[in-house]
Amino acid sequence: MKVVVVGAGLGGVPAAVGLHRRGHEVTLYERAPELREAGTAIVITPNGVRALDALGLGDYVRGQAMPAVTGGLRDWRGRPLLVTDVAQAQQTVGTTAAVSRAELHRALRAPLPAESVRTATPVHHLEPDLTGVTVISDGQPVARADAVIVADGIGSGLRSRLFPGHPGLRRAGRVDLRGMLPRPAGLDVTGLLGSILIDRRSGGMFGLFPVGERDLYWFTDSALRGTPPGADEALRDVLSLMADWHPAVPALIEATPPADVYVDAIACLAEPLPSFAIGRIALLGDAAHAMTPDLGQGANQAFEDAAAVTRHLADAEPAEVTERLLRYDAERRPRTSSLMRASSRQAWLTSRTGATAWVRDTLLRAVPRRLATRRLAAMWHV
Ligand SMILES: Cc1cc2nc3c(=O)[nH]c(=O)nc-3n(C[C@H](O)[C@H](O)[C@H](O)COP(=O)(O)OP(=O)(O)OC[C@H]3O[C@@H](n4cnc5c(N)ncnc54)[C@H](O)[C@@H]3O)c2cc1C
Repeated sequence: MKVVVVGAGLGGVPAAVGLHRRGHEVTLYERAPELREAGTAIVITPNGVRALDALGLGDYVRGQAMPAVTGGLRDWRGRPLLVTDVAQAQQTVGTTAAVSRAELHRALRAPLPAESVRTATPVHHLEPDLTGVTVISDGQPVARADAVIVADGIGSGLRSRLFPGHPGLRRAGRVDLRGMLPRPAGLDVTGLLGSILIDRRSGGMFGLFPVGERDLYWFTDSALRGTPPGADEALRDVLSLMADWHPAVPALIEATPPADVYVDAIACLAEPLPSFAIGRIALLGDAAHAMTPDLGQGANQAFEDAAAVTRHLADAEPAEVTERLLRYDAERRPRTSSLMRASSRQAWLTSRTGATAWVRDTLLRAVPRRLATRRLAAMWHV
């Protein structure tokens, strides 16, 4: 079958590889002039690794398994609230890893034959008819396909065209900063690795993860004031918000070159889509279910989508595509809709201030490590 994948991000690339490996004639369209993934690192959880394994792509992440760190939630000074044993959780449910986004993307796209990739080709429109789909770029037909996988990300233009009545994205009212840097000499972060620090005074958050032996990945989350700020303004705001946190927090943020800090005004789909499949067209990744990053599941769910769509289309004939994509929708939409809601709930919980946050912290401190580790393993087992 001829399959077109639109968007070469962390969702589109594994889908293209999976479908290519199942013998389909795949063409991957990307609007950017080259295939790459920009920015810092990403946490891949065991469910994401399993999905990549199903596509024959799991080796890179499994090779980067997170070292034995004490994870969980801490207060802004680094004092433990909810302690988890990451090594123990990995033994139960499998590898988790923080990996460089650029390196991960490179590993995922390596099996794709160069002739199946069209860069600098934005897809603006899809014209389905009874026998296939015509793919339009800049007003011109560029391909004809038996199936089209839409993976054009959170701002998906194709999603808006396919679902004109859907309300689209909702701003979460928060801004996230992310940075990655070599471990600064002389800065002791051992106790903080794998942890998320939360501050009941401001509702701010800071997470820190090791990336291989050499690098550290940090991220912050705080209330968005006014319109989305530029990088310099956001950095200034976060540094003043976190000035009296555990000393490693401002030190790490300051040690990261400002040009390497990524700033995102967090958004998610205002409500789940009514379907991930319309005839011969299916959506995956952020185009289908953009969620807030609070559970670290956006890309992990995109990997699951890629594995599922590959499985459902594996031996499909052109005449079966519509029915197979309905099965894909039935498998994937309930799970991702529930994770969209769970991510928003997690955001609510960690951003509390005042009396609610005090009660939250008191309850968190009472949870024994074994129970918290089991809970973490259950979350990764999703
Ligand atoms: C701060 C932050 C932290 C996060 N942390 C994690 C984490 O730890 N773990 C996790 O699992 N997820 C995390 N995520 C979510 C994760 O980054 C996304 O869910 C994931 O990257 C989505 O992949 P995608 O392929 O769907 O979209 P994208 O990565 O956005 O890729 C879309 C691609 O489509 C291309 N494109 C767009 N329009 C067109 C067009 N018209 N034609 C052709 N190409 C087009 C784009 O150029 C891009 O290459 C985080 C997100 C944020 C904001």
